[in-house]
Amino acid sequence: TVKPLTDLEIAMQAELRPITEIAKVAGIPEEALEQYGKYKGKIDPNLIAPQGDDAKVVLVTAISPTPAGEGKSTVTVGLADALHQLDQKVMVALREPSLGPVMGIKGGAAGGGHAQVVPMEDINLHFTGDLHAISTANNALAAIIDNHIHQGNALQIDPRRIIWKRVVDLNDRALRNVVVGLGGPAQGMPREDGFDITVASEIMAVFCLATSLTDLQERLANIVIGYTFEKEPVFVRDLQVEGALTLLLKEAFKPNLVQTLEGTPAIIHGGPFANIAHGCNSIMATQTARKLADIVVTEAGFGSDLGAEKFMNIKARMGQFKPSAVVVVATIRALKMHGGIAKSDLAQENVAALQQGMANLAKHVDIIRTFGVEPIIALNRFITDTEAELQAVLDWCATENIRIARTNVWEQGGEGGIALAQQVLQVIEQENEFHVLYDVTESIEQKVTTIVQRIYGGAGVQFGEKAKKQIQQIEQYGWDILPICMAKTQYSLSDQPQLLGRPEGFTVTIREIIPKLGAGFLVCLTGDILTMPGLPKQPAALHMGVTADGKAKGLF
Ligand code: ADP
Repeated sequence: TVKPLTDLEIAMQAELRPITEIAKVAGIPEEALEQYGKYKGKIDPNLIAPQGDDAKVVLVTAISPTPAGEGKSTVTVGLADALHQLDQKVMVALREPSLGPVMGIKGGAAGGGHAQVVPMEDINLHFTGDLHAISTANNALAAIIDNHIHQGNALQIDPRRIIWKRVVDLNDRALRNVVVGLGGPAQGMPREDGFDITVASEIMAVFCLATSLTDLQERLANIVIGYTFEKEPVFVRDLQVEGALTLLLKEAFKPNLVQTLEGTPAIIHGGPFANIAHGCNSIMATQTARKLADIVVTEAGFGSDLGAEKFMNIKARMGQFKPSAVVVVATIRALKMHGGIAKSDLAQENVAALQQGMANLAKHVDIIRTFGVEPIIALNRFITDTEAELQAVLDWCATENIRIARTNVWEQGGEGGIALAQQVLQVIEQENEFHVLYDVTESIEQKVTTIVQRIYGGAGVQFGEKAKKQIQQIEQYGWDILPICMAKTQYSLSDQPQLLGRPEGFTVTIREIIPKLGAGFLVCLTGDILTMPGLPKQPAALHMGVTADGKAKGLF
């Protein structure tokens, strides 16, 4: 048997087209393209003429993720390639990878197999430097805060109540809690601090939700960095650095243009975590793609309970657009895991377990319908799937009247996604009844209860003592009129990672509520959500290297 090519090998064998040609395919005027080498570019959104707002957005989401992997990005890219093959004017919009997961857990963030965005090694490494700009803006603010205290602390910032942390775009558990300012009076005021990974920072969330440079600056000004000795909030605007932060971000804020293996134009821009933040590429990317194409295929992180819920209730609300179709990626392997099978036994046919695990898929279908949109299941084929297993899912969909398409883009590229693309084209033809699930003016308890009951399928919500006190304070400041950004495990529809399938009757506990006034949402923490991941025992970094002529090795 021949060993299948790795994602990197497939990507490196591809013959890339110059980015100027891709820009032409996308209809980007010459003056709006800024080239970053031969195969990458930035698009100046101000130089893209506005189009009618009839461009359709197709969201790709998934069932609850398992360690078996679902292939959301792969299907997103493959679907766009299939639509391209069907002569549609299409663009794909994806998140930028973070170096934390790239160096840590093996698993690409630029699609896989024959459905990838390229140059994948650049995209996965430093790309066009956006993550650098975001980290720098974040850390510039941290430096300004410590300097303000050192220089006399005119704002009376309580060093024990600073909530602004430093960031680095790596998994580095040793930096979760640190002490800064050691070494005597000339080195600043000693205080406890900590690092988050860049993609969990509020700057990243702000960057992805801002609709213009002006909006970006306003959102940055609204960030709360901590509290005074009198427990009053201190904003970035009190420190007067929103201008400097916007300046640090202005080039990064332009969406990045690359291509798929089949030459479909792709925008890759912004990449907030989907557990602590909202988990979608930037609004600038989606809206720029909508100005250029008729159909934009985009993705939201993790399962539909997390990524898609936030895509609808946060991103679509702020960006003022609606999804015309939603694709739910499912795999036989992951469904079998939801049916109780261990990862090591997934290669064996097991229709009974599969049927049990389908409860998870059924719930994700219901979630999408709750938003007034008709879902299409993409059954992402793995070579281990048996015909009996595939048929079992198809039969179930037929009896339940759910749209489904076998998808084989990993092996065949766009060709393997034609059936899915045809279903998508049918669905976007019809107007849907998309609606957000709650009004921001409802109480925090009401909004969270709506998400828990209608999306997760839980019985109710319990607010811990700390959260209750925070709600009072948030209401007192008038910050309660914001959407909710749930921070929850991705593995279960509940807040307990071990509850696979379709759990029912559970109560979700909200431990803490963190107002993110720049991003414009209230983060509700359930369980322990890490904002600085650690590396695994065998990090992916151990297999990486460079050839003598400067080509990447071992990157997936
Ligand atoms: P997600 O977006 O859900 O995290 P990705 O699309 O990034 O998943 O895929 C994760 C990994 O799984 C990639 O390395 C990709 O090559 C692989 N993969 C995806 N679909 C398939 C498939 N049908 N067969 C084999 N490997 C696949």
